[in-house]
Amino acid sequence: MQDARAHFVLVGGGLAGALLAAGLGQDGYRVDLFERRSDPGAGNFVGGRSINLALSARGIHALEQLGLADEVLADAIPMHGRMIHGRDGSLHRQPYDRDPSRHINSVGRAVLNRVTIAAARRLPNVNVHFNHRCVDVDTDRPAARFVREETGEAVEVAGDAVIGVDGAYSAVRRALQRQERFDYSQQYLAHGYKELTIPPGSGGEFLMERNALHIWPRRSFMMIALPNPDGSFTCTLFFPFEGPLSFAALRSPSDVESLFSREFPDAVPLMPTLLDDFFTNPTGSMVTVRCAPWHAGGRVALLGDAAHAIVPFFGQGANCAFEDCDELRRCLRERDSREQAFAEYQRRRRPNSEAIADLAIANFVEMRDKTAAPAFRAYKMLERRLHGWLPGVFVPLYTMISFTRIPYAQARARAKRQEQLLIVGTAALLLILLWIALLIVRCVWPAGG
Ligand SMILES: Cc1cc2nc3c(=O)[nH]c(=O)nc-3n(C[C@H](O)[C@H](O)[C@H](O)COP(=O)(O)OP(=O)(O)OC[C@H]3O[C@@H](n4cnc5c(N)ncnc54)[C@H](O)[C@@H]3O)c2cc1C
Repeated sequence: MQDARAHFVLVGGGLAGALLAAGLGQDGYRVDLFERRSDPGAGNFVGGRSINLALSARGIHALEQLGLADEVLADAIPMHGRMIHGRDGSLHRQPYDRDPSRHINSVGRAVLNRVTIAAARRLPNVNVHFNHRCVDVDTDRPAARFVREETGEAVEVAGDAVIGVDGAYSAVRRALQRQERFDYSQQYLAHGYKELTIPPGSGGEFLMERNALHIWPRRSFMMIALPNPDGSFTCTLFFPFEGPLSFAALRSPSDVESLFSREFPDAVPLMPTLLDDFFTNPTGSMVTVRCAPWHAGGRVALLGDAAHAIVPFFGQGANCAFEDCDELRRCLRERDSREQAFAEYQRRRRPNSEAIADLAIANFVEMRDKTAAPAFRAYKMLERRLHGWLPGVFVPLYTMISFTRIPYAQARARAKRQEQLLIVGTAALLLILLWIALLIVRCVWPAGG
């Protein structure tokens, strides 16, 4: 049990930082949350990343712990499955689960951030400071150094612990990297992403199926679209940075038009601002970050993307970061010292973040390539059937990741075992069928007959 009077300095008021501030605040700690951007409550939200994201069981559970889930989900759009768009305009629906009521949720980042920031601010022991960019951390004292964005003034804030919740390019992690024996790796994808828009129809209606995550899988690249409450869709094109078919090769409006009319012909008529969006919106990169340790004694810790940025293809980065928040608070409650709590938090969470990092990369191949293949569709159907016939015994990986809170590492290991069993079972079935066929042949044409 920790000293509730301890003072936490949180660096980064994005998705996880705001939730953590609200959680630690509810636990009675004194919290100062510093964010380099301006106040999203004042209408200044700059997402920096995608406009909306998929929120599922893990993220919802963490929000529920703070009584915030209903408020966030009030604005969410349920997505019950994937809608696959062929080049010929054909549509194929792939439910996420055999239970049709199970769904993931398209949620605006701005809403999520506003709700969690507001929850933190309601607490008298939490102070939120915008326009403060962290430039360094003294990991011994510990103290974080900031520059006020509007004035350039330097500010130093000491606390009992500094927590880096400042995303994939974390300044707090940079400070930890100066320590001896700090492991660090980052791996960029060869693909980047660009956000585009399908606006609502003239009456505010959705111009495609509302309750689905749309995918245009094209083997080496893909486009996806998630619905927004105003009837629009945010599309994201995942495309190679370099090469003959790449962002670098799309130089003129006619290059873009010809790519889109060849690859996404059904989407083009719905995208009146395609060229504007394409040439105005930035091209983002996607990185997997792995590092250890996630803490320096009980003085500094990392959480969310700062500790383990992952690529977005399982829709789990924020969900995983929210789970981190829950686990860190649990460890603080359960352990006698902050150092023990931080060490235990890392012990519990790191194998899971490693697992979801690998699964997210693998899911990119599944989404952009396999979802279009008939064999894959048959496999998904078989998975759903097995899930129905053997509930609790066979649970598809997607279900475990998105609709349960089974730790990611356990889910990955179990999915691997299930896949092996499926392969062995299918091989055994084929052998039995072959044996029966041979028996029939021998009955019809007896030896020597
Ligand atoms: C294209 C894309 C789609 C995604 N889709 C999904 C999805 O569908 N579902 C899902 O769960 N996840 C998704 N993610 C992942 C998700 O966005 C991240 O995992 C999540 O935002 C991590 O939260 P965080 O708080 O750790 O980091 P962030 O949300 O990045 O927040 C970090 C905050 O720290 C602030 N900051 C940074 N540096 C400093 C500094 N020096 N000083 C002060 N403040 C600083 C930033 O301004 C920011 O507000 C997606 C990511 C991308 C790129």
